Amino acid sequence: MAVQLPQKQREYDVAVIGGGILGVSIAYWLSDLFDDCSIALIERETKVARHTSSRNTGMIHRPFYLNPEKKRIFARASQKSYYLWRDLASKYSLTWKPVGTFEIALSEEQVKTLDHYKEWASQNGMNYNEFEILDSNGVKSLEPQVKCAGAIFSKTDTCVDYGEFTNFLFDKASKNGVKFVGGYEVERISEFEGKNNVHLRSRNDGSILQISSNYLVNAAGGGSIDITHKLGLAKEYTDLHFRGEYWKVDEPFASKVTRNIYSVARFKEYPFLDPHLIVRASGKREIGPNAVLVSSPFTYKGLSEKRLQIISKLFERPLGPKLKLFTNETFLSLVWHEWRSSISKKAMCARVKEFVPALDVSYLNERGLAGVRNSVIDNNGFVPEAILVSGKSSIHILNYNSPGATGAPAFSAYVVSKMMDEGHLGNLKRTPNPRSQDDGWKFEDATDL
Ligand SMILES: Cc1cc2nc3c(=O)[nH]c(=O)nc-3n(C[C@H](O)[C@H](O)[C@H](O)COP(=O)(O)OP(=O)(O)OC[C@H]3O[C@@H](n4cnc5c(N)ncnc54)[C@H](O)[C@@H]3O)c2cc1C
Repeated sequence: MAVQLPQKQREYDVAVIGGGILGVSIAYWLSDLFDDCSIALIERETKVARHTSSRNTGMIHRPFYLNPEKKRIFARASQKSYYLWRDLASKYSLTWKPVGTFEIALSEEQVKTLDHYKEWASQNGMNYNEFEILDSNGVKSLEPQVKCAGAIFSKTDTCVDYGEFTNFLFDKASKNGVKFVGGYEVERISEFEGKNNVHLRSRNDGSILQISSNYLVNAAGGGSIDITHKLGLAKEYTDLHFRGEYWKVDEPFASKVTRNIYSVARFKEYPFLDPHLIVRASGKREIGPNAVLVSSPFTYKGLSEKRLQIISKLFERPLGPKLKLFTNETFLSLVWHEWRSSISKKAMCARVKEFVPALDVSYLNERGLAGVRNSVIDNNGFVPEAILVSGKSSIHILNYNSPGATGAPAFSAYVVSKMMDEGHLGNLKRTPNPRSQDDGWKFEDATDL
């Protein structure tokens, strides 16, 4: 059944797919910079921030652990965005709890990684008084429950609620005129010079809606690679989905640890970080996330949402990158290790016990909210950075992983500036005094990544 919308509601200058923190930030900047730009924000759910943007650790990550060469864009986007989020939170009383993070070394070998982190912290623009290297006794004096060989203490890591941030920006974007097309999933899509036609299906009653736009932004998170493939783009890439699970830690033990405790990643080329002990913005403590291989971006329980989904996921094209991984013994043993920590609470607890020995499985009685990370792979394995793919009149953002929520304000400005540089918004007039400036958000400062 086709739903007829008035003509003026079906044609837009820009259609943005994805109502997560990235799509909302892009829609926000566009509506702020161009008063006369008509924008549709298309989202499969009826509200924004229903997936990864609310289902994460909730940390503003400072970029000490990001290699400035291999993860340059993520490092620079998080550094710039830290100040943007901080000023916004301060002006509008949004949640902002600077609790700090210890990233700990579990062995003398890992202590060497801390020296890299110290260099990267400076290279990525952190102030010298924001971080400190501590030996095991230094850590013990501040966090008596933690056992390690040393740590970097990043003092400005901050707990926030990214769902709250996304909804806040969404309200601003809506006031600027962005039209929310919620509850519709992109089913088909076609692109020709200067025009995109998006065919949507309602998740509620199956009705069909057509939208056309002069330009399209694909910020669909775990759904973005499927959209590029529908357009015949990014065919060298495919993706895998890893569910990150959490367990809440009971009091009175929980409050004995006052900062986030992360451990240095052992397998840097894979998306398997060991679970951390984290402080939530609510003040609650949790352990997690692990990284359990599942078959879709929305599999919050079990292995797949639908029957046979796992088979179609395994055999979707291109096959090469997956074949390489699934014949790699290290990868397979890590996958099993992560699954074990999903099936067994004791196995999950044991991973954190390595550095918080007094944590007991009896303190873990309720699961936290799981989220799914979507990692893009090609023939060289896991891709370390976000990927931008341009179509004839579209841009697609793939592999937008952690610290993607931290970096969203600057990264989204960077995407919009790319659209402007390529002449896709040439017919629109810039607003002389964008409202973002009243919040201290200066577009030109944010875009230089
Ligand atoms: C376990 C975990 C912990 C994390 N912790 C942190 C952290 O502490 N700090 C940090 O900075 N980052 C963290 N991240 C990363 C961060 O959460 C993500 O980088 C960020 O939320 C991605 O935002 P997004 O808008 O791209 O994706 P999403 O929030 O997933 O939004 C994409 C949207 O697109 C919609 N969509 C998908 N397909 C379609 C379709 N076909 N049609 C219509 N709509 C569609 C979806 O419904 C979804 O709402 C974490 C991620 C995970 C998984």
